[in-house]
Amino acid sequence: MGRLVLPFTLGVLVVGLLGGGGPLNGAGPLVVLDPGHAVKNRRGGIVNSGQKSPQGLWERDVVVRIAEKTEQYLEEAGYQVRLTRNQQQFWRIARGRRSDLRARVEEANQLKADAVVKIHCDWHRNPRVAGCATYYTARSSRRLARTVQRSLVQATGRPDGGVHRTRLLGVPQAAMPTILVEVGYLTNPEEERLLRDETFLDKIAHGVVHGLTEYFQSSASGGTAKKGAEPL
Ligand SMILES: [Zn+2]
Repeated sequence: MGRLVLPFTLGVLVVGLLGGGGPLNGAGPLVVLDPGHAVKNRRGGIVNSGQKSPQGLWERDVVVRIAEKTEQYLEEAGYQVRLTRNQQQFWRIARGRRSDLRARVEEANQLKADAVVKIHCDWHRNPRVAGCATYYTARSSRRLARTVQRSLVQATGRPDGGVHRTRLLGVPQAAMPTILVEVGYLTNPEEERLLRDETFLDKIAHGVVHGLTEYFQSSASGGTAKKGAEPL
């Protein structure tokens, strides 16, 4: 845990120096966690249910648990965190999938978040397909995607499904680095069991936190080098 705090000590130091030593109130980067699905319209009809495993485990339940665990560990490490939904406000209200995806992006943009992590579970016809994968759309999100994917694979020990560019993250694009993590396959019996296991969900959450921390740490040191090289 102590190691996770280090980057923000660095971040505060860097900004403090550049800003004339003013404190940052210990506020780390603002991260939006976006567990997928669970959308109803105003009449109560489900417009985005998410996937269900053959044994009856809903993606929308798994991803909200992961988001809440990730929120807890991020806050302990000094981050500011917002969730697009949680267990108390489980269902989002929207006319349809697209308007909901757009609303999620707008929420992150209004918050001026530093990063968005969308959390999903995967599904495949072939029950042997397994592992976690990370998706991004904008080129500027690629480094975040690679860093979090590496960390997820390390933390979970699951097969590396790789990092992929896609156009499906939402309309329009979020203004900040945005990634989508597929944390495992509901259709793979072994991963389905793991996704019911609190310890495994903790591993996923720690993987995301560690990846974000590595990302912001190298962003901070990159920023320092650049500022230092600029003529006054
Ligand atoms: Zn999904």
